[in-house]
Amino acid sequence: MPTCVECGTRVQNLYTQYSKDNIRLTSCDQCQQFADKYIEYDFVIIFIDMLLLKPQVYRHLLFNRISQTGHGIESNIIRFAILLILFEVYIKWFRLERYCTLYNSLFLQKPLYYQYLYILALCILEFVVFHCCICLALRFYFRNHDKVIRYNYISMALIISSFGKMLLILMVIWEYEQLEYSWLVSIIVLASNVEALSVYLDLSYMKTFLIVSVGIIGRVVAQLLFLQTTFVDIGLDDSPFLRTKWLTL
Ligand SMILES: [Zn+2]
Repeated sequence: MPTCVECGTRVQNLYTQYSKDNIRLTSCDQCQQFADKYIEYDFVIIFIDMLLLKPQVYRHLLFNRISQTGHGIESNIIRFAILLILFEVYIKWFRLERYCTLYNSLFLQKPLYYQYLYILALCILEFVVFHCCICLALRFYFRNHDKVIRYNYISMALIISSFGKMLLILMVIWEYEQLEYSWLVSIIVLASNVEALSVYLDLSYMKTFLIVSVGIIGRVVAQLLFLQTTFVDIGLDDSPFLRTKWLTL
């Protein structure tokens, strides 16, 4: 059932269609505002509101754009997740190249396909661990509640709200010396993950932040274990701090 993006109440429908290009938005009985103004907005405004962390836009995307009856993950969201992973591979590779040049690592002497597959495996591991840790944390948090948690929707909320990673490409295009502001992008992604989950689960920001933190800790541990077990092969024998210096959270 569609949801009012302003107050979160369920509504019968979002608009009434009179003819092909003539629709009238439904008003919400609870808050007296349009139930979903984003139906008439174009993508740029939706994107700006996502950046501004408006809960209304996440309600629109999570409740009114995604079918609420599905069991898996929608195909266009899977495509977006693949894009995010490939993008992460590119950013990590970019940073690792700089790091390896700086410390004369043997990694760059490996064949290109080896370098690519190595970083791809790391990114896929990070993605899976992040999602699994958050789902486990939610399972633990709601263990005594009747609330039904649909984990596929949790994953979709996390994927959609990770759109901020795309901003890193601007840093590469503009040739920032050290990608030193990439932590800002990580904060935007963290904030939008928290906003999306908080809207979807109707939880406070603090509780949602703690749940997302479990995912981040899991991801960092997975990164360290992955590097610990494989880095000998690629010839980096620096301190653990230097090993992880090129990673992005
Ligand atoms: Zn309302």
